[in-house]
Amino acid sequence: MGPLDQTPHPYRGREAALSTKHGKGQMIAPPLLAWVGLRLREPDGVDTDRLGTFTGEVPRVGTPREVALRKARMGMAASGLPLGIANEGSFGPHPLVPFAPADHELLLFVDDELGTEVVQEALSTKTNFAYQTVARADELQGDFLRRAHFPSHGLIVRPNAGPNPGLVFKGITTAPALRQAVDRCVQTSIDRLAHVETDMRAHMNPLRQAVLGELAERLARRLAARCPGCGSPGWGVVAVVRGLRCALCGGETDLVREEIEGCPRCPLRRARPRGDGRRRADPGTCTWCNP
Ligand SMILES: [Zn+2]
Ligand SMILES: [Zn+2]
Repeated sequence: MGPLDQTPHPYRGREAALSTKHGKGQMIAPPLLAWVGLRLREPDGVDTDRLGTFTGEVPRVGTPREVALRKARMGMAASGLPLGIANEGSFGPHPLVPFAPADHELLLFVDDELGTEVVQEALSTKTNFAYQTVARADELQGDFLRRAHFPSHGLIVRPNAGPNPGLVFKGITTAPALRQAVDRCVQTSIDRLAHVETDMRAHMNPLRQAVLGELAERLARRLAARCPGCGSPGWGVVAVVRGLRCALCGGETDLVREEIEGCPRCPLRRARPRGDGRRRADPGTCTWCNP
């Protein structure tokens, strides 16, 4: 192991800025404290909605990683701390699972003293993400509300069409509030329809909180892992090599064969067999055996 492994973790007793408006500290702080002794501070006056909102009043510009980096820097600037962390979530159809919605979460950690960035991502189908357009609230009964996990998870309602971008009802968690919001929006929408969607803000969405909590655990473990060369926190998988061999014919498949671990600070890289212990691919995934 490296020269610094005997020393205390560099983040023990330190503070990092967390830029959030939506109570994400509850999910993100405990694993970071447990694994590396790092505490989070949520600076006042950081309005991450300036970088874009789920409800579209402000469009988001850039990749999730770029948005997360800008968010983290807002908190670091507001607090004067050289360490920062931010989350960016996005929702839509799963890229591989047909008809399933997906929650893509990215957590980014910045250390301006070491000059490092560490990113962990998750793609989960454990999400209620859904939307529907209705003329009356009772058209929502049944399947939609069950999939949306209403009322344990919030809803957002706005006019479906027309020049009324300011009219948005967020964080709806009761049937009467939902009815009122739909009626209001139907009245002002030029097509007499209301757009109802799941509220994906973390404090309104326990499913998202669970995904974020698991992701924060992975980020914390990664920060606990230190580079065997230079001792920097954040040693972990930075790339994969495909070509796991088929169990039947021995040909190469598209499945991951090796993971490349690396340091966020120095050039050290090490290849290792994939982490789940699989050494051969199922012939069902082989283009020769199962074309
Ligand atoms: Zn094969
Ligand atoms: Zn290193």
